[in-house]
Amino acid sequence: MDLFWHRRDLRVADNRGLAAAGDDTGEVASIFVFDDAVLEHAAPPRVAFMLDALSALRDRYRERDSQLLLARGDPSTILPAVATELEVDRVVWNRDYSGLARERDAGVHRALDAVDVPREAFHDAVHHDPDAIRTNAGDPYSVFTYYWKKWREREKSPPYPAQTPEDLVDANAVREATAELDAALETLPSIEDLGFGEPEAELQSAGTAAARRRLQEFCDGPIYRYESRRDYPADDATSRLSTDLKWGTIGVREVWEATAEAAETAESMTETDVGESDPEAAVEEFQSQLAWREFYTQVLFHNPEVVSENYRAYENPIEWENDPELIDAWRDGETGYPIVDAGMRQLRTEAYMHNRVRMIVASFLTKDLLIDWRHGYDWFKTKLADHDTGNDTGGWQWAASTGTDAQPYFRIFNPMTQGERYDPDAEYIQTYVPELSGVEPKVIHEWHELSETERHRIAPGYPEPIVDHSRRREAALEMFERARGET
Ligand code: FAD
Repeated sequence: MDLFWHRRDLRVADNRGLAAAGDDTGEVASIFVFDDAVLEHAAPPRVAFMLDALSALRDRYRERDSQLLLARGDPSTILPAVATELEVDRVVWNRDYSGLARERDAGVHRALDAVDVPREAFHDAVHHDPDAIRTNAGDPYSVFTYYWKKWREREKSPPYPAQTPEDLVDANAVREATAELDAALETLPSIEDLGFGEPEAELQSAGTAAARRRLQEFCDGPIYRYESRRDYPADDATSRLSTDLKWGTIGVREVWEATAEAAETAESMTETDVGESDPEAAVEEFQSQLAWREFYTQVLFHNPEVVSENYRAYENPIEWENDPELIDAWRDGETGYPIVDAGMRQLRTEAYMHNRVRMIVASFLTKDLLIDWRHGYDWFKTKLADHDTGNDTGGWQWAASTGTDAQPYFRIFNPMTQGERYDPDAEYIQTYVPELSGVEPKVIHEWHELSETERHRIAPGYPEPIVDHSRRREAALEMFERARGET
C-alpha cells in the first residue's frame, strides 16, 4: 500500500502522483496535513477556499468508499508516524516549487529516511518541470517569448486517470489504523479552528466540479474571443481558473485538453461565430497565459529569493518613498483614480482582480506612489484567493521594472488613459465605485482634469486624487535614473 500526501492538488482526477501511487503496491491511502508552518503564510480567502476544496475532495473519497485522512501538525512528524502505522510501502506526493515548500519537503525526506520509508515526488502542477526547458546554453529562461516557443512545441501529456474504489483503501481500515494517532482530525476544522477569521470577500465555489464548470463555460464561448477581449475588465472574457490552478482543484492536463479541443473547433469557425476575433489566435493566446504561469514557476524555482529581492539589480538601491498614508489609500481603494480604486475594491470584495487592472494598480503603487513593490505583494498575498508565489512575485516585479522580462522602467501607465481604453463605458469602475455611479463615463475618464469644486459637486463622497500623475511620473523616472546611476 502507498500513502499519498495531498498538498496543493486537491483533486482525484488528473493527479499524476495519485495516479502513480499504488501502481506497484495495489492500494492507496490518502492524507492531507494542516501544517502550521505553512498556515503562518496563509490568509482568510485562501484558507476558506482550501477548506471548501477539501470538503469537496473528501466527498470524492467517500463516493469511492474510502476516506481522506486529515491531520494537523508538522508533516515531518506525522507522515513517518502514519506511514509506520499503516505499514505503507512508500509515501507519494506532487512537488511544489517555492523555496519554503522545498525546505519543508527536504525535512519530510529526512524524517522518512530516519524510519526507512521510501518515497517518490512527481511533477504535476506544470506540464514541463522547471528544469525541462532551458536555453541552448543550458540556462533557465529569463525571457518569456523564447521560453514560450519551446514550451508550446513540447508534447503535452493527456490527463491521468482518476483512482477507482478498488484502488483506494477502505474507509474503515484507514480509521482503525490511525485511531491512536494524536494528530488525526475526525472532522474538517473550521476556519476559526485554524486561527483565521471569515474572509471579507465573497469567494468562487471550490472543488473539481466547480472548476470543470468554469472551464466548460469558458471553452463554450469566451475562449474564441480571448485575445481581443481579455483586457476589458467589464467583460467576462477570462477563464477565472486561477484559484483552481493554484489549489489544483483541476489538473493542468485537463485544462490543456479542453484548449486543444477548442483549437480544433476554432479552425472551422466563421466570422458569424466570433465577429472580428481570430479564434485560432485567441485560443493560442490563452494557451500562452498557461505558459506564463509555468515561466514564473521556473523563475521562482531557480531564484527562490525573488519573493523578497529584486530579480534585476540596479546599480544603486531604488529609493522608494514608502509614504504610509499613500499605501493605506491604495489598499482602501481611496486614491481618487477611478480604475485603481475599482480594482482595489474588487480585490476586497471578491479576493480576485482582473489581470489588466492588477497591472494598472501595481504600476500605480510603484510608479505613481513610489512605493516598494513588496508592500503591494504583501497586500495581494493577504487578499487574493489565487495568490501564487511565482505568479504574484512575477506580476509585481514585472510592474516594478525589477523582474525577469519586466516592463522597462520608463514605461509608466497613465491610469486615466488605461481606464478610458479598457473600461470605456466605465462599467467596471461603476460596479466597484458606487460614488461614481450615474456619472457620465466621459466625465469619469476626465476626472483629474476637473476642478476640485466640480469633482466635489458631482461625487461628494469620492476622494480627491491623492497625487498628480504627471508630476509623479517625472519623480518616478528620476528615481529609476538615480538607481541606474544616470544622475
Ligand atoms: P486567464 O486570463 O483566464 O488565464 C488563465 C490562467 O493563466 C490563469 O488562471 C493563470 O493561471 C495563468 N495566467 C494568466 N495570466 C497570467 C500572468 N500574467 N502571469 C502568470 N500566469 C498567468 N496570477 C495568479 O494566478 N496568482 C497571483 O497571485 C497573481 N498575482 C498577480 C499580481 C500582479 C501584480 C499581476 C500583474 C498579475 C498577477 N497574476 C497572478 C496574473 C494574472 O493577473 C492572473 O493569473 C489572472 O488575472 C487570473 O484570472 P483568470 O484565471 O481569469 O486568467
